[in-house]
Amino acid sequence: MTGRVTVVGSVNADTSLRLAALPKPGETVLAREAAGSLGGKGANQAVAAARAGARVRMVGAVGRDDGAPLAGALAAEDVDTALLTRSERPSGRALVLLDDAGENSIIVVPGANAALDDDAVRRACADLSPGDVLVLQHEIPAATSRLAAATASAAGAAVIWNAAPAPVRAADLVEHVDLLVVNEHELGAVARLLGLEPAGAEADVAAVAARLGTDVVCTLGAAGALVYRSGAHVRVAAPVVTAVDTTAAGDTFVGYLAASWHLPLSEAVRRAAQAGALAVTRHGAAPSIPTRAEVEHGLA
Ligand code: ATP
Repeated sequence: MTGRVTVVGSVNADTSLRLAALPKPGETVLAREAAGSLGGKGANQAVAAARAGARVRMVGAVGRDDGAPLAGALAAEDVDTALLTRSERPSGRALVLLDDAGENSIIVVPGANAALDDDAVRRACADLSPGDVLVLQHEIPAATSRLAAATASAAGAAVIWNAAPAPVRAADLVEHVDLLVVNEHELGAVARLLGLEPAGAEADVAAVAARLGTDVVCTLGAAGALVYRSGAHVRVAAPVVTAVDTTAAGDTFVGYLAASWHLPLSEAVRRAAQAGALAVTRHGAAPSIPTRAEVEHGLA
């Protein structure tokens, strides 16, 4: 088994609205239903790693007044929340609009996620050991992610950086990373920030890997994932499923990958791709993440 998985990242209260079609500018539309759940890329990835069977700690921030249900939802998934600090700011929120064609639009209000306690982050990452894994995304301040990566790397832990949502400034790039995980859009954004001209996923993973000195996995939706390690490309197929809601497919993929770090990379990606495929067959963010038994059943 992988050692501990420590996620330093965002925790949100999600509100998902189901509607026939996404509203155009100036348009008012009626939603069929609204559902609330735990979300945020950090929290989703922590839940995915926990459902995959790993020991998981969540390092982040929620609102002092409104964060208790979010901390409770993480704890109910066996995620250690001792380093989830309470902020004067309200908890992060996300509004997820989902139409009948399975398309979504998401608005995120960072709230407490913009004010992580850097001391708590430093302590959590300095405490890591070889075999442990740190997982980062891009919904908290980049300076905090860079601090976490440098501290964890110095402690001998592996660092997985999911550069999502796509970074927009060179200062958003994180160093001391062992594995970069991106979708095609994020891969292009990282390539541009490195001064590279995007030239398709195969060329871009190789060029980005060379410039950052990392391995790279690019997720490709229904087409699975492209792995680039030690100068070689490996394509991993995703199982054929009927997608109803792609929210958190990428987060499920990253959480399962972190929990499978002890396996050869292409095998870990195969598990992650299976988990991501199952997640798109269900509605919601954290609620759509499959259990380890479901993923193993699918792989058998
Ligand atoms: P999101 O932002 O919606 O969470 P993403 O763009 O970060 O997703 P994707 O590449 O869409 O990530 O999906 C992650 C993984 O989930 C894919 O690599 C694949 O294994 C699986 N997956 C996603 N969509 C499908 C699909 N329609 N059919 C099968 N597998 C899928």
